[in-house]
Amino acid sequence: MQDSFHMLLSIQELDIKMIRLMRVKNERKKELEKLHLLQQDVKQQVEKKETQIKDIKMQVRLGETQIKEIEEKVARLEQQQSAVKKMDEFNALTHEMTQAGRERHMIEQKLSDLLDKQTGEEELLVALKENLKATHDNSTILEGEILESINKINQEGRELLEQREVMTKQVNGELFKIYERLLKNKKDRVLVPIENRTCSGCHIVLTPQHENLVRQGDRLVFCEHCSRVLFWPETSVAEEGEETGTTRRRRKKTQAVSA
Ligand SMILES: [Zn+2]
Repeated sequence: MQDSFHMLLSIQELDIKMIRLMRVKNERKKELEKLHLLQQDVKQQVEKKETQIKDIKMQVRLGETQIKEIEEKVARLEQQQSAVKKMDEFNALTHEMTQAGRERHMIEQKLSDLLDKQTGEEELLVALKENLKATHDNSTILEGEILESINKINQEGRELLEQREVMTKQVNGELFKIYERLLKNKKDRVLVPIENRTCSGCHIVLTPQHENLVRQGDRLVFCEHCSRVLFWPETSVAEEGEETGTTRRRRKKTQAVSA
């Protein structure tokens, strides 16, 4: 039982590493997604701008056709006018020609505005396309880096799993089942030492009786508050590198003072 427990503590360290690894992997995956979204966004902006320009060009063509029609109309009116003999007919035609002239002027004004707008939009399109290219180049580099790092994580994960499998065979099956169920729930250390009569998992103080049970070490004792398995620190095989954040900080501080 004790040997199994020690082995399980080592497995737990592997699992914690694995959990951290998966967290990093997920973060990197999210970065990748963000990159793709950004690229997509710029691409859509380019497409939208292209549609806008196409639309403007269509309006310009329409205006040009209208002017051509007016020109033809005026030419027709002039011809008619040269043929009429009555004054009121002549005046009516003049009036119609003036109207046509006004209309033409209005359309020309609109065309000029449209052409200005087109120039502006085309300049924007050039900038957007440059942005798209820059984003693409940038993404390609970053994407390579992220994929490489994910590959490394996968490799590391596979190695951890292999180690774990070897160790798992040496652990009591019942104990291992309990451990796995707890780990699945907590996604954190589930075999935790008592520190100052406190469960180091949930930091709630235990009763002396509870502490005694743990100290005796005859059977598994669970924290009543967080259900983690408690153990007496002396039986710990926790490695040097696995200190808690506080001790590490404290140690660093001491070094800083003595230096
Ligand atoms: Zn607890």
